[in-house]
Amino acid sequence: MCGIVAYIGKRDAYPILINGLKRLEYRGYDSAGVALLNDNDELNIYKTKGKVSDLESFTNDKDINGHIGIAHTRWATHGEPNDINAHPHISRSGNIALIHNGIIENYLTIKKELQNRGYEFKSSTDTEVLVNLIEDVQLTQKVDLFEATRIALNHVNGAYAIVLIEKGHPDTLIAARKGSPMVIGIGGDEFFIASDATPIVGMTSRVVYIENEEVVKVRLGEELHLKTIDDVEMTPYIQELQLNLESIEKGGFDHFMLKEIYEQPTTVRDTMRGRLHADLGKITLGGIFDYEKKILNARNIIIVACGTSWHAALVGSYLIELYAGIRVKVEYASEFRYRTPVIFPDDVVIAISQSGETADTLAAIEIAKDKGATVLGICNVIGSSISRVTDAGIYTHAGPEIGVASTKAFTAQVAVLTMLAIHIAELNGHLPKSRIMELIHELDLIPQKIQTTLERSDIVKDIAEEMKDCHNAIYLGRLQNYPVALEGALKLKEISYIHAEGYPAAEMKHGPIALIDNDMPVIFIATNKSTYEKVVSNVQEVKARHGKIISVVTEGDILVKEMSDYVIEIPDTECTYAPLLATIPLQLLAYHIAVKRGCNVDQPRNLAKSVTVE
Ligand code: GLU
Repeated sequence: MCGIVAYIGKRDAYPILINGLKRLEYRGYDSAGVALLNDNDELNIYKTKGKVSDLESFTNDKDINGHIGIAHTRWATHGEPNDINAHPHISRSGNIALIHNGIIENYLTIKKELQNRGYEFKSSTDTEVLVNLIEDVQLTQKVDLFEATRIALNHVNGAYAIVLIEKGHPDTLIAARKGSPMVIGIGGDEFFIASDATPIVGMTSRVVYIENEEVVKVRLGEELHLKTIDDVEMTPYIQELQLNLESIEKGGFDHFMLKEIYEQPTTVRDTMRGRLHADLGKITLGGIFDYEKKILNARNIIIVACGTSWHAALVGSYLIELYAGIRVKVEYASEFRYRTPVIFPDDVVIAISQSGETADTLAAIEIAKDKGATVLGICNVIGSSISRVTDAGIYTHAGPEIGVASTKAFTAQVAVLTMLAIHIAELNGHLPKSRIMELIHELDLIPQKIQTTLERSDIVKDIAEEMKDCHNAIYLGRLQNYPVALEGALKLKEISYIHAEGYPAAEMKHGPIALIDNDMPVIFIATNKSTYEKVVSNVQEVKARHGKIISVVTEGDILVKEMSDYVIEIPDTECTYAPLLATIPLQLLAYHIAVKRGCNVDQPRNLAKSVTVE
């Protein structure tokens, strides 16, 4: 999920690797490391928790010679961020060093097999398992590293971009990818490998993008040798690198927020990776395995969160009550911490926070712990404070989120809560097995449906043009679309500074309806099947007062569509999954309005990414 840089050539590798890592710093990470093979065939590995500058200080008095090396910035997924878990990881013999971005889903099974054969592991990472698997194949099948890597990857599920170096082979890098991106830069008598083109810009403009499940041998003085992991020879396609540095960092998007919105098909898939088993019709949530009994016997589930995470919590409360039949209360952490909340020792408190550092949420956790409740965390940053102080938890694995207004972290949180709700229902039998199978199959299709939603969102730019000068907006939805309305309104406030309110649609007539006139855009999230007719009546009420109606509907909708000035269609899905799709065009709407108003989208005024103060 984070950064990879590798070099082989005539120049000193170290400065090229460090500069490359610095160019990848915008992604955010928790530790950094480098492996260099010097001219005496010594493999020197230096790694440390913290920033690239910490790595530089650490290597101050060390041997940093070598014309070949690999370097990594880690965004921890398996094991907390510390020196030992940082990459590169080394094989048992000490001959092979490997860096890895991504997640090996079946690492535990492989680890057990290797342990049974005497392998020992120093780190908690999936990466150390992979480097030893590759070495094991190399030794048992008596093949070279290129072939061993190819064979080993056939035993691996998950996502990876990897680069390896080996003692005794100062002229060769081996690399492979699946899911995580990777690009090779071809210079005169040198090669660069990186997780995106940022570190390569200015070094060479000839690049080859490695495709999924391809392995490559990069050898000085030779053409690239490219194969699929199924052993099919491939011809490298060399392209001209045309992007400038700025646009590459943002993946060709104008802002990080837009990039992160478009990443959501991938990030939601990453959140579900190794947890949602559509083929088996089951869900496994390893992080909370030891606490499943507590959850099943919970008197109440109380979810504490702030901001966007609080909206995700509201969606979660609908799903857990509906699927699992357990009472759920959602609380603002900042209120919860100062009232005298009634919490029982058999309550389960779930704390949600993207950064895992939100001060109010941390304080709420302490109160819940004092009262003896079980406390679980849902956060994005591995090793963050919340992940350390809670009893157990589920990471969202959305990767670093840089835009201050949260987007992909929200959908990842909702995906986690959806899996949790279905999983509890699986365990307590609140839903029949056949219904669970249906829900799991449909959830598996959601990343693809997010992609379709993004592809259909062109209309959003026209709506943004219409709305860009308005002073107020109302967002309305019912049931699990009510939090979507809240989240849509919050996005608009955060980045475009337009006043916006989210309401349950039926509440409109108890007050906000007084605001409606020709100038008031009203955004309806009208996808729920069970309350559809009710929402149609609410739309009519707004129309009668000449409000401008913008609606998010399910494809094939007729009634709401006819009454709306603008319509955004999302693919049909379980009505409880609509938040995972309907939120996307609302994120885009806020984004395009903010851009048209000339606002600083990625760093909106007065806001901070991680709210570590009360
Ligand atoms: N799964 C690996 C780890 O936790 C790689 C994480 C990354 O992509 O940085 O170390």
